[in-house]
Amino acid sequence: MSERTVFPTRTVREFLGKPHQHYIGGKWTSGASAKTIEVFNPATEEQIATVPAGGEAEIDAAVAAAREAFDTGPWPNMAPTERAGILFRFADLIAAHSDALSEIETLENGMSNFLSKFTVEQFISSFFRYYAGWTTKLTGETMPSRPLLGAPDDEWLVMTVKDPIGVVGMITPWNAPLAILSHKLAPALAAGCTLVLKPAELTPLATQRMVELSAEAGIPPGVINLVQGTGSEAGAQLARHDDVDKISFTGSTEVGRSIIRAAAGNLKRVQLELGGKSPVVVFDDADIVETATAAATACFIFSGQNCMAGTRLFLHERIEEPFLDALKQATEAFKIGNGFEDGVMLGPLISATQKSRVLRYIKQGLAEGAELLTGGDALPGPGHWVKPAIFTKTTPDMSIVREEIFGPVLVVQTFSDADVPQLANTINDSDYGLSGSVWTQNIQHGLRFARMIDSGQVSINAHAAIAPETPFGGNKQSGWGRECGREGIEAYLKTKAISIRH
Ligand code: NAP
Ligand code: MG
Repeated sequence: MSERTVFPTRTVREFLGKPHQHYIGGKWTSGASAKTIEVFNPATEEQIATVPAGGEAEIDAAVAAAREAFDTGPWPNMAPTERAGILFRFADLIAAHSDALSEIETLENGMSNFLSKFTVEQFISSFFRYYAGWTTKLTGETMPSRPLLGAPDDEWLVMTVKDPIGVVGMITPWNAPLAILSHKLAPALAAGCTLVLKPAELTPLATQRMVELSAEAGIPPGVINLVQGTGSEAGAQLARHDDVDKISFTGSTEVGRSIIRAAAGNLKRVQLELGGKSPVVVFDDADIVETATAAATACFIFSGQNCMAGTRLFLHERIEEPFLDALKQATEAFKIGNGFEDGVMLGPLISATQKSRVLRYIKQGLAEGAELLTGGDALPGPGHWVKPAIFTKTTPDMSIVREEIFGPVLVVQTFSDADVPQLANTINDSDYGLSGSVWTQNIQHGLRFARMIDSGQVSINAHAAIAPETPFGGNKQSGWGRECGREGIEAYLKTKAISIRH
């Protein structure tokens, strides 16, 4: 970002000035509904766009377009190398447009533009490349098999083939619009599925730009459809729709439950990436300053609005004092502000609602007897700001320890050598199981705890080591299924067995 850049840049001003629409069957349309959604920049509280709010009619049209593209279109039947070629082109376009994509993401979500740009360029484009590679490797198996029917001397050839699951509905949250979309979009496209996207009403714009680029990349009409709208109308209709074969959802555990109920009608598949309350476990042999900085980042990056956030710190009591000093220092050093300012690490919270939710938890933590080591107060607007808060003197039953706050709040618990045998049980006493990390120079400790922590992803001496190749997802109430890696594409495939008697 050069010092002279003025945001929004001309490219993005032009994008913002265009009408924002749904994308159905390869055509941009305002839809039938007259309802609209106003989109705000959470750092300035200025309105940046208006998008249409689609409902049942728009979802029905988008599902019909996706169904037609799946049943008759070229996408599921295209030569794998050709589909890969289009996905590689899409990846190139994403990288080439990373400035504008990340600018739009920062405008609507507030996150640091440095982080967004880095993510789009390095991570999101490589996600599409990774899954483009899979299109040519979706093989079944042959197995020695002798089915029960037939004569004893019949010969058999038995094989499996992998088919795309069909029409997929994708419902995404506001906290990392582009990364979360890519976790779903890249493998689903590589598998040959067609889809309907319903982004969060708070952050509809970056997704729109991605859809524009997908068309430019050569993804045929009807393969990707986009309906803007609210969760209660557009999202719920997509979740319950009888002609949708699968819902892939990222968001809160509460809405995840409603998706499961809505999916019961036609028993569509459901994949869920939900909330978390992930542990960061620091042993007394960890490097204090390095680990304290990493722990502060693990919790406060994206201002704590991050499902993988390391919000529960378990700290060995032998290093309590110097570690907390270093943690406080690292936390207070984060620059808070508009994501376009140089050096800003922590942007605003997404909305006034989210800000009051976070402040409510902080008040409750104090009322329950926890102590604030730093932060926890609101900063004046415009924008929704809360200074990152670290709570000490916490106990396992406190609401700040048990519930996902989705804001910049870290709770510290200490343990002694005598607690170590029970520590994994204490850590696992949570409804969630998404991420986690163990910090130690002792590989025995590290591996033992990595194995014992009940979550979908644990890192040793790192937190949230997310990569296209590495499965990501939650245990317990953090979700169903895995994104990324081989499992990430298998989630969009169904297996058929074919038995040939000869
Ligand atoms: P949310 O309220 O669950 O919303 C997520 C999406 O679901 C939005 O698009 C929302 O639409 C839509 N939605 C709401 N009600 C719906 C319904 N009845 N039927 C269908 N769709 C509905 O979550 P959020 O507040 O945006 O995001 C924060 C949550 O997401 C946190 O709990 C966080 O942990 C979780 N998250 C998980 C992961 C992960 O990978 N595990 C990643 C990021 C976030 P509208 O917003 O437009 O109403
Ligand atoms: Mg919500």
